[in-house]
Amino acid sequence: MANVTQFSREEIEKIYNQPLLELVFQAAQVHREHQDSRKIQCATLLSVKTGGCAEDCGYCSQSAHHKPGKVKSKLIGLEEVKIAAKEAREAGSDRLCIGAAWRSFRNDKDLQSVKAMIRAIKDEGLESCATMGMLTQKQADELKEAGLDYYNHNLDTSPEYYSKVITTRTYQDRLDTLEAVRNADMKICSGGILGLGEEQSDRIGLLEQLANLEPQPESVPINVLVPIKDTPLANVTPIDWVELVRAVATARILMPKSWVRMSAGREKLSEEAQAMCFMAGANSVFSGDRLLTTDNNKPDSDKILFQKLGLSKLEQNRPRNANLNTVESVEPPASQTPLSPISAPAQLIQIGKKQSQEISEDAHAYLG
Ligand code: SF4
Repeated sequence: MANVTQFSREEIEKIYNQPLLELVFQAAQVHREHQDSRKIQCATLLSVKTGGCAEDCGYCSQSAHHKPGKVKSKLIGLEEVKIAAKEAREAGSDRLCIGAAWRSFRNDKDLQSVKAMIRAIKDEGLESCATMGMLTQKQADELKEAGLDYYNHNLDTSPEYYSKVITTRTYQDRLDTLEAVRNADMKICSGGILGLGEEQSDRIGLLEQLANLEPQPESVPINVLVPIKDTPLANVTPIDWVELVRAVATARILMPKSWVRMSAGREKLSEEAQAMCFMAGANSVFSGDRLLTTDNNKPDSDKILFQKLGLSKLEQNRPRNANLNTVESVEPPASQTPLSPISAPAQLIQIGKKQSQEISEDAHAYLG
C-alpha cells in the first residue's frame, strides 16, 4: 500500500515547533483516533553476537573501530535463543528481537543459524524480529521464508548529518536494505537516535525520511544517545528531554498507525518525562532490565509506572499458547477517522538479557 501523503520538511518543522503542550495535545488526539492509547507493546531484545562490528557508527561500543568494541563474542547457540524466547514469553513480551553486531551476514552458515533462531522464536509463539545489518534481497527472502516478521534497520539521523556519525556505509545503503525488507513482504522497524550532536533540523530531517517511506515503517524506535566512554560521541552534550517529547509527538502525528517506541535512553528519564512521552503517543517500549548491553528500565519500575498511568501491556490480548508456528499479529486498530491515508503500521521491541560478559559493559543498545 502506498502513501498518498508526502510530507515536506517545512510542514514537519511547523508541527515539531508548535508550543509543546499544543503539540502533545494534537499528538494525543491523533493517537486516540488511530490506536488504543492504553496499550503498550513490549518486546525483548537479545544480542546473539556482540562486538567486533566492521561498521564505525560513532555512538556504538560494538564497533571494532572503537576501543570498547574490539572484543567480540561468537554467535550464541540455538538453545540459548530458545531459553530467551521462553523467558521473554513468561515476562509478558510478545516479541523477541535478536541482534548481531555485523555489517551484514558474514556467510551462509550464519544466515542458516539465524533462520533456525527465528523458527525457535516462532515456535515459542512470539513474533520475531532481527537486526543483522545490511541485507541482500536473497537474504531478506530467506529470512521471510524462515518466518521473520520484522526487520530492524535504523536510519539513525538526517541524510545531512549522517556522514558525521557513520562513514562505512551510506544512507542509501540503509534505504536499499529497507527496500529489500519490503520486497520480501516483511515489516519494517526503523527509527533513529537523538542527541548525536545533531541540530534540531536533523531530527526533523530524520522524521521526514521515515514518514515519507512508502509504506511507512510499522515500528519507529526513537533512541536517545547513551554516551559510551571511548567512543567518538562520548562527550556530546545531552539533549533536553523536551526534544524527545517533540520527536515522539511529531512521529505520532506523521505516522499515526505506527508503533512509536521509546528505546535506548529511557532509563535516564523521570517518570514524569516518560508519562509525557506516552501522552505524546509513544506506545511501545523495550521491557527487561538490559538493552543488548546497556541498562534499561527495571521490569518492576515499568509495572509501577504503567499502573500509575493506567496503561497495560499489549500482550495481554495475545494468544499465549506456545509451539505455534503461526501467531496472528495484533495490529493497532484501524483508524475510524484517519487524518491522512497512511499505510498500515506495526512495531517491535527489545529487552535484554545480560550476556556476553567478555564484552564491555558499556556497549550500546542501538540496533542496526
Ligand atoms: S550500530 Fe550496529 S552496525 Fe553500527 S557499529 Fe554498532 S553494531 Fe555495528
